[in-house]
Amino acid sequence: MNQYRQGTLCVHAGYRPENGQPRSVPIIQTTTYRYDSSEQMGRLFDLEESGYFYTRLQNPTNDYIAARITALEGGVAGMLTSSGQAANFFAILNLCGSGDHIVASTAIYGGTFNLFSVSMKKLGIDFTFVDPDADEETLSAAFRDNTKALFGETIANPSCAVLDIEKFARVAHAHGVPLIVDNTFATPVNCRPFEWGADIVTHSTTKYLEGHASTVGGALIDSGNFDWLAHADKFPGLTTPDESYHGKNYAKDFGKAAYITKATAQLMRDYGSIPAPMNAFLLGLGIETLELRMQRHCENAQKVAEYLAGHPKVAWISYCGLPNDKYHALAEKYLPNGSCGVLSFGPVGGREAATKLMDSLKLANVVTHVADAQTCVLHPASTTHRQLSEEPELIASGVAPDLLRLSVGIEDVRDIIEDLEQALAQI
Ligand SMILES: *Cc1c(COP(=O)(O)O)cnc(C)c1O
Repeated sequence: MNQYRQGTLCVHAGYRPENGQPRSVPIIQTTTYRYDSSEQMGRLFDLEESGYFYTRLQNPTNDYIAARITALEGGVAGMLTSSGQAANFFAILNLCGSGDHIVASTAIYGGTFNLFSVSMKKLGIDFTFVDPDADEETLSAAFRDNTKALFGETIANPSCAVLDIEKFARVAHAHGVPLIVDNTFATPVNCRPFEWGADIVTHSTTKYLEGHASTVGGALIDSGNFDWLAHADKFPGLTTPDESYHGKNYAKDFGKAAYITKATAQLMRDYGSIPAPMNAFLLGLGIETLELRMQRHCENAQKVAEYLAGHPKVAWISYCGLPNDKYHALAEKYLPNGSCGVLSFGPVGGREAATKLMDSLKLANVVTHVADAQTCVLHPASTTHRQLSEEPELIASGVAPDLLRLSVGIEDVRDIIEDLEQALAQI
């Protein structure tokens, strides 16, 4: 399957029916699985055999779709989670515990910033946030002996900053830790972070992957490239026996599948953020059209960005597809086929004009969501990033008080632009 190109993988990867089997991905709506003997079940519990025993750990429908995303990313193993938040939580918790430290980009989703700086901090995991545009020396200075990973977003939500993935990978690897990249906005159709040195990829599948605003979900994918045993002292959870699994050693016993096996066997078992099989089915259906939709999102967003860039009532705009954008060169390198449909801009008149403009839109939905088929708009400073103080957190995470996040959908772009035109006329 992996010899096929992205558009084909979107449709076929992860589930190929055999003779007489259903064409559609089956929804295996069950909590549990029957076995002939307790001995056989015992082997499953000991991870001696692979097989399903309880949907909190694994379910076939979920696994078909995890395999589809894994193929698209070019990884070796993956798992679905119930949300993008759960995916990022697991991505980090799978590597560290109380007393450890993580370095993360400041240009990340507000929910992730809260997860790291508030909730995970309470668990005793410390975070240092770094400007992703800083040079390697400055980034390196944030690392400590107990640092266990570096984290960034391919295209930041909502600032639209593009990550220099190779630079981040070099810095992470120089410190003997993996690079985790949240690839939600670019999707594997427009960027495959593993090809640039990232070790682990996360997704909020809630966005473009599912694509229709119907299903919250997440994914965690491993490249299989990070050598845990070469840094055994840093990652005892992967390289020493797991007493809760009769002494299994993930790195030694599962090789390239170590990271995902541990996330399944420990984190899903104990924290249980599994998606419903029905949600996995809907996600799989969405992914079938991912390549087509991304092409249209990017085409439409480019036209909208050019329109806004030339409008006298637009004070600034950030879209890496524009030639004079700060991130244009990085986008040309990492996102040659297009970035995504999300752009941010600020109208003349600041915060007040931004909310007035937003309230005047008729076609675009005002929602706490981005990256689905319908055009939508949000003012992060009064919603998703509301918990952040204006200075310095808001600015540090790339959210100016007048920033409007516009997620350009797949409608006829002329209707999207006409909607913006009538709204801009009212400010
Ligand atoms: C939305 C989002 C998340 C959180 O995902 P949920 O599915 O809403 O839990 C994480 N990262 C990025 C980049 C996102 O856009």
